[in-house]
Amino acid sequence: MTGPSTPAGIELTQKAKRVGVISDIHGNLHALEAVLEQLQKENVDMIVCCGDVVGYGARPNECVDTLRKLGIPTIAGNHDHAALLLTDISNFNEIAKAAVLWTKRVLTEENMEFLRQLPLTLKDTANNVFYVHASPKEPGEWNYILTMGEARTNFNYFTEQVCFIGHSHQPFIIENDEGNLACPTRPEIELREGRRYLINVGSVGQPRDHNPRPCFVIVDFEARKLEIRRCDYDLAGAQQAIISAGLPRELAERLAHGM
Ligand code: ZN
Repeated sequence: MTGPSTPAGIELTQKAKRVGVISDIHGNLHALEAVLEQLQKENVDMIVCCGDVVGYGARPNECVDTLRKLGIPTIAGNHDHAALLLTDISNFNEIAKAAVLWTKRVLTEENMEFLRQLPLTLKDTANNVFYVHASPKEPGEWNYILTMGEARTNFNYFTEQVCFIGHSHQPFIIENDEGNLACPTRPEIELREGRRYLINVGSVGQPRDHNPRPCFVIVDFEARKLEIRRCDYDLAGAQQAIISAGLPRELAERLAHGM
């Protein structure tokens, strides 16, 4: 399904018309299963994951197993690297740090190896799309894109028409019409010729936009339509799993607030 590896990223060679883009699952298997069910109903040809498969939630191995089993092209997120101690966690808050260390302890060798070999970026040349977890400018630095200024800078660091990111757990669409940036608030847009797009696909497993429902994107490259979607899931089940695992209670509580 994927082409040859390079140190920075890999290239997708699969031709896909309808693509589901997911990110920031964070070990929340209950949310992942609900999103995958929706994507199946929507008849997507391919699913791509923008990273942070683990960290915070109680089912990191099951989430990695699911992506592996389905052959979902996945890039690395900072929490995936943190669980392997490949990135500095001294700037993580105490709760995030506790989750990283718990995740590191429970991950199987096989799943650690899977996370270790994840590329930092993906290119889908057929659809003219770039995927990165945090920012196209510095994929391995895990900087957030939170302002229009940061978005403007980052448009210079990919050449494709569309770039999908995750990381902030807050979905957004930024449309670049020859240097004029707009931020449409409607969840569905048309991909227009001559315009470029930076899309944050939100978070499957720990949304932080005050909406607890898992977030993801469906894009149809033939119809040129892109939509930010939400779905219901067994939130109480995910919370109970966190508490039963002995992870910090706050990680269960925040899921209900979408924060
Ligand atoms: Zn994340």
